[in-house]
Amino acid sequence: MKIITNIEETQKTIAHFKSEGKTIVVVPTMGFLHEGHISLIRIAKAKGEIVVATLFVNPKQFGPSEDFSRYPRDLQRDSKMLEDSGCDILFAPDSSEMYDENFSTKVTLSGITEIYEGKTRPTHYDGVALVVLKLFNITKADIAIFGQKDYQQFMVIKRMVIDLNFDIKLIMAPIIREENGLAMSSRNKYLNTDEFQESAIIFHSLKKGADAIKNGIRKSDEINKIVINSLEKSKLIKIDYVATLFHETFLPAISFSSSDRIVILIACWIGSTRLIDNMIIDV
Ligand code: AMP
Repeated sequence: MKIITNIEETQKTIAHFKSEGKTIVVVPTMGFLHEGHISLIRIAKAKGEIVVATLFVNPKQFGPSEDFSRYPRDLQRDSKMLEDSGCDILFAPDSSEMYDENFSTKVTLSGITEIYEGKTRPTHYDGVALVVLKLFNITKADIAIFGQKDYQQFMVIKRMVIDLNFDIKLIMAPIIREENGLAMSSRNKYLNTDEFQESAIIFHSLKKGADAIKNGIRKSDEINKIVINSLEKSKLIKIDYVATLFHETFLPAISFSSSDRIVILIACWIGSTRLIDNMIIDV
């Protein structure tokens, strides 16, 4: 695996593979990798010939009171995991490589960036969109893989790709979970033993929502109530939002029917750690 920190060298290396007609697949990450990230690399390998993982803790997607400076980092361990999983190129720039001192461009999407995650983290998705746009331009990838774990992020990127006519195919990869059901995340490192144990209730509550749909409930407010009641059994959990939406449109599934595809979203804090999760349900 080639590790590159420089944008120009990354562009040259990828241009060479493109001239040979190879399909380039990019997997953007912020590092401190786990099995969830590696599952994306495996999908990337199956979909194209050259897999480019990017590792960049993007300062522009963190709010002023968020965890940018303490976000976990371990480049050596990440490199080894990527190499072992068959990644071809690791692009790991530093901040000054991505944003020079005169950097001035902002990317703003309206609507979808202002609700749910975007309401609690108002500048988050503009930072995500900016860095993803840069990574698409740098890698000229044919395919990009993102996780369902960050469902709203996928919808934001999909919107940007449509709006700006990017010639790239987006693939959403399924959520990989810990044995207790907690969705894997680099931020799970912040949880202490009690919090980790308690976190199982998030997946459990999503399943309660899914069961309610299986049992014939077809209204978002009733599903949300069931999920909230389940989460509230935990004294350690503080709910940010629970939402039941149409999968395609990201609009509240106020009333749905048996041909619909629904997604239930949860965002909550356990102690000071903010966790998100979701489940897609074919009604
Ligand atoms: P991050 O490093 O948190 O920015 O995540 C990089 C990519 O990995 C994003 O597309 C995430 O949605 C995806 N990802 C994160 N956690 C998981 C997981 N548990 N299962 C599958 N994909 C994940």
